[in-house]
Amino acid sequence: MWEQVQQAPPDPIIGVTDGWRADPDPRKLNLGVGAYRTEEGKPYVLKAVREAEQQILADPAMNKEYLPISGNAEFNRLARTLALGPNSPAIREARVATVQALSGTGSLRVGAEFLSTHLPASFPRIVYLPNPTWGNHKSIFGKAGFQVREYRYFDAATRGLDFGGMTADLTAAPPGSVVLLHACAHNPTGVDPSREQWRQLLELTRRTRLVPFFDSAYQGFASGDLDADAAAVRLFAEAGLELVLAQSFAKNMGLYGERAGALSVVTKSREVATRVESQLKLVIRPMYSNPPMHGAAIAARVMGDPKLNAMWQEELRGMAKRIKAMRQVLYDQLRARNIPGDWSFVLKQIGMFSFTGLSRSQCEMLVKKWHIHLTLDGRISMAGLSAATAPYLAEAIADVVAN
Ligand code: PMP
Repeated sequence: MWEQVQQAPPDPIIGVTDGWRADPDPRKLNLGVGAYRTEEGKPYVLKAVREAEQQILADPAMNKEYLPISGNAEFNRLARTLALGPNSPAIREARVATVQALSGTGSLRVGAEFLSTHLPASFPRIVYLPNPTWGNHKSIFGKAGFQVREYRYFDAATRGLDFGGMTADLTAAPPGSVVLLHACAHNPTGVDPSREQWRQLLELTRRTRLVPFFDSAYQGFASGDLDADAAAVRLFAEAGLELVLAQSFAKNMGLYGERAGALSVVTKSREVATRVESQLKLVIRPMYSNPPMHGAAIAARVMGDPKLNAMWQEELRGMAKRIKAMRQVLYDQLRARNIPGDWSFVLKQIGMFSFTGLSRSQCEMLVKKWHIHLTLDGRISMAGLSAATAPYLAEAIADVVAN
């Protein structure tokens, strides 16, 4: 019966780690992985997370009952407050419907499905994604029945934002289209709009009557400051816009495999939020019934306990700082080799990744000749670098650029 099943291609991002694992060369580097690594190249479990986990295990009231369909209510409350801010008018007026979902991906998927069913009938089912974007966005919205279109985002010449192209494409979008916006630390480019550009995007979104859908996968990870990284989301919410927000705790709490995330829909009134939440549950129930409890319990404790929260924020600053330091080390190493071109983008780009502009064939050479594993769009994970490995990467880049 299954003889007709075709071999699927490997996932372009997850496949990088598979290639790295299979590479026997001792110099091999994994710069494809979108996960934080210590200076020693090791995965890192935050101390605040370990502490929260121990408290949960020691709690005699802990049980393994099902969570409600909408998940851990305390986690949901803390998650939306983290994004929208403690003084959010939308939260104060109880206009936000929040459900726990399976990390960022699951939150996006539930959000896309909800929009596909419940956007007004007169709205087109079209989503605008930045070009480029995290590869999974296309499949997530495609599976939910959206027609996927792109808006210009990255300017290859400046390795910065193509703001003119972005605003032109979004202005031309049919009213009622969904626009996906990376809340901060755009993946894969590391290029974000400035404050002033966000203000213009807000006006454009309102004028063109777009539906903003924020993907917040890196809050606190970009600048080390949770509030600063939420500025764009708060700007839109405080301007009174109705919006959708997917949050992931994979990076900022290092809870990758725990799948802790939240989907919020900001509405106009408490009554609408109640109805929206009831419909979100109908999306979730036939998909996976209810979400897993452990990761959300950890995140709720870390956010809710003042001591753990302070510990978390300090570790978050430490992770962001190490990544920034790696940008400087790599930049200095590239400059020291007099590689042609302006490499200052390495310093300017934000968050976990740097988008190098290296061509596909140059990337292939990095993998084959230098055992440096990365996605073939030229994205490198700064979190996968260390002071010890940055010179090797610079040497390899010098070689592939010269050839
Ligand atoms: N959105 C973006 C932009 C991402 O980079 C990621 C993780 N790579 C996600 C969403 C989802 O991650 P997760 O499902 O692990 O939370």
